Amino acid sequence: MKVAIIGTGYVGLPTGVGLAELGHEVVCIDREESKIAKLQAGIITLYEDGLEELLKQNFERGTIKFTTSMEEGIKDAAIVIIAVGTPPHPVTHEADLHYLYSAASELAHCIKSYTVVATKSTVPVGTGDSVESLIQKTCPEVDFDVISLPEFLREGYAVHDFFHPDRIVIGANRQKAKDVVAELYQPLLDRSPDIHMLYVSRRSSETIKYAANSFLATKIHFINEMANFCEQTGANIYEVASGMGLDRRIGSAFLNPGPGFGGSCFPKDTMALDFMARQNNLHLSLVRSTIEGNHKRIESMAERILLPLENLENTEEPVVGVLGIAFKEGTDDCRVSPAMQIVEALLKSKRKLTLRIYDPQAMGNAKFLLEEYESRITYCSSAMEVAQGVDVLAILTEWPEFKDLEGEQLAKVMRHQAVVDCRNMLIAKRDNLRSLGFYYRGIGI
Ligand code: NAD
Repeated sequence: MKVAIIGTGYVGLPTGVGLAELGHEVVCIDREESKIAKLQAGIITLYEDGLEELLKQNFERGTIKFTTSMEEGIKDAAIVIIAVGTPPHPVTHEADLHYLYSAASELAHCIKSYTVVATKSTVPVGTGDSVESLIQKTCPEVDFDVISLPEFLREGYAVHDFFHPDRIVIGANRQKAKDVVAELYQPLLDRSPDIHMLYVSRRSSETIKYAANSFLATKIHFINEMANFCEQTGANIYEVASGMGLDRRIGSAFLNPGPGFGGSCFPKDTMALDFMARQNNLHLSLVRSTIEGNHKRIESMAERILLPLENLENTEEPVVGVLGIAFKEGTDDCRVSPAMQIVEALLKSKRKLTLRIYDPQAMGNAKFLLEEYESRITYCSSAMEVAQGVDVLAILTEWPEFKDLEGEQLAKVMRHQAVVDCRNMLIAKRDNLRSLGFYYRGIGI
């Protein structure tokens, strides 16, 4: 089956590679010429575990191709998957659909025969209707269907999640379109017959994505609030989380405390849902409180890092070591990363300080996003290099390698011994750190 994918980012690229691996003939389209030029040369453009190898294999086999031309890309495609960004509008925080509508109007000029247009981008309820009328107006003579095909992959596990999804949700109103989607996923079902294909209406499908992400964000916010509670009461958040998680009605996933949720999805999707609710004269109090609570949490993490600096002489310009800048481990994505927001809060704080930063995968993105603070940041090539001469070490992303840090080694190179561990990476070593004279603060214990 010939498949076209518009938007070759964190969703479009793994989806394209996965579909090619399943035996489809895939063309990935992106308007960013430099990205397509790299991909056409077989060079990966983002970090995802296992993606580079799979891309290489399919590229060499000729099952995946890349182009900037919409016309060339969607020629003869049975299904066109839209996977462009839907970032938050800077003022209203609603989903900004200009990439989506521009992709839809470009493709509408190119389809010649029956085509399924599947929106994989996360879009507000009712967007499918607007895309449908836009295409209808542009090419009234062509038969087509617009369906919702929301994406649930987790960054860092995109390849795994493509082949092992919890469910595939299809919001389609016509059988003809459902048949095309069934054919698209048949090779995946042949491998894993237990995958749940959930057919619902287009509006329900669009809503499922926002409801699922807002629920997950709320779960994270809840456990973070419980972590604060544990810190004040002497309970241990891990014991509390395991006692809660063993209840099947609750489940153990997403009960891991941290610096707040972030990334390119949860913050924007909770805000977009809140906006949609307000447009419909509804107040989603739980979603609203999750958004506000998460902002406060991220601010409070910056305050935790600044706290040990209060005891330093005012003549010294403090140096803060930052371990991790990606929004979570396994990705180079820094968009709305809690680490990035904490770093910005530190750089804007009254206390003038400088930073030393290291992330195993996200240094390129970090440098780009923090360009305006260039003179106050030293980028390092390892965690131990970050620790050299710092007054406080802040662990902000849960990269497994940070667990290997040893108090004895840190003590030798740090100027002052303070660790603020927003990911509890060194929690198992906290007694040792404290016995070495460290100020150590973790989360929820
Ligand atoms: P991204 O920014 O990584 O990629 C989007 C790509 O679309 C970019 O390469 C951009 O150049 C391209 N693009 C924009 N307009 C285009 C056009 N008219 N024609 C061709 N290419 C165009 O975005 P992403 O993280 O992959 O997210 C895409 C969508 O999927 C969003 O709606 C997001 O909410 C949703 N989503 C993302 C994730 C995730 O983990 N990143 C998970 C589930 C759903």
